[in-house]
Amino acid sequence: MLNIDNPTVVIVGGGPAGMSCALWLKHLGFSHCIIERNAELGGQMLNIHRINRWVLGWYGRTSADLANSYGKHVKDESIPVIYNAQLASVESTPTGFCLMVDEAGQSQGLTMQVNALVIATGLQAQGIEIFGPSSGLEYLHSNGLIGCHPLDHLDKLDRLQGKTVAVIGGGDNAHFTVKDVARVASRVYLLIRSQAKAQQTIRNEVNALIGQGLVVEFVESEVVGFRPSQGGIEMDLNQSGLPTDSLIVDRVFVRAGFVPNSRFLDTLGPLATMSKLKQGYLLTDSRKRTSIDSVYAIGDVASPHLQSVVTAIADGAIAARAIANDISINI
Ligand SMILES: Cc1cc2nc3c(=O)[nH]c(=O)nc-3n(C[C@H](O)[C@H](O)[C@H](O)COP(=O)(O)OP(=O)(O)OC[C@H]3O[C@@H](n4cnc5c(N)ncnc54)[C@H](O)[C@@H]3O)c2cc1C
Repeated sequence: MLNIDNPTVVIVGGGPAGMSCALWLKHLGFSHCIIERNAELGGQMLNIHRINRWVLGWYGRTSADLANSYGKHVKDESIPVIYNAQLASVESTPTGFCLMVDEAGQSQGLTMQVNALVIATGLQAQGIEIFGPSSGLEYLHSNGLIGCHPLDHLDKLDRLQGKTVAVIGGGDNAHFTVKDVARVASRVYLLIRSQAKAQQTIRNEVNALIGQGLVVEFVESEVVGFRPSQGGIEMDLNQSGLPTDSLIVDRVFVRAGFVPNSRFLDTLGPLATMSKLKQGYLLTDSRKRTSIDSVYAIGDVASPHLQSVVTAIADGAIAARAIANDISINI
């Protein structure tokens, strides 16, 4: 255990996991701050204007509402936050790490000596890169005909009236998109590379739309080519490596899942060797300690099996208690 007069902890990422950890660290007596790459706290929840049914006691509120409440709580507690900032370099010291933090608009980086680091950088949606270099795709994407964020169809529903739409993906977000779009489009194609993996409730709703002929599903089908065609997009489908169908649609929504925001660690000195799972999720023990001493990882970036607000918040508390266990404050 490290004995320190004024132990300092930096939390990288200001989503629910990072904010929760900051709150707990404050009340456990630590100096700390959050480094957030965006101009606001809240993380993924900020852009989710849907009712969040999974947080006890907060019924009827959207994730964006919750994010704003959490952000306000952090501000009301006077927890320091450095916005528009990212780690530029990390060096090991005898009592922790020396960090260089780049802040947008500042010509000089900020140097900080810290005793522990918490990585709470969440996930990001996968985009068109999953298709590899495919001619026409960049053009279609930059012309707004392909969308990759899980909720980017919601503000376009008016324009999808009577149109033909393809949704690529087999998880919950693909199914929710199909359900929303099928209310207005004349036909929706659901294109799944393997088999549907959505929760049973939403799967049942999409099955009902398939039964009504509003949705046509292709399973074990891979999209291998995109071309601009008749003001829309022509797509080539393969099954088992063989060409099967060609579809012309007005718009495509890709719902290809998420990847953890852990790649930035690869250039950060001692953090580059942190143990990761295959897809890049950070490996931790049950107290949220990573393979590197004094570095902890919480929330979605370290949670391959369950991504949710409540588990992110719980992770923040668990890591704060572990830090209090590992670093004792000299009084
Ligand atoms: C469409 C959608 C719907 C969802 N609906 C629900 C729901 O109904 N109920 C529910 O419980 N959960 C839901 N979730 C999941 C929930 O939003 C996440 O589990 C939760 O936000 C994870 O919190 P986090 O703090 O781990 O990460 P995030 O919310 O991703 O926050 C990470 C933060 O780190 C910042 N960051 C990233 N990289 C860096 C860096 N290098 N330097 C500095 N900062 C960085 C980001 O800007 C962000 O602010 C949904 C997710 C999506 C995408």
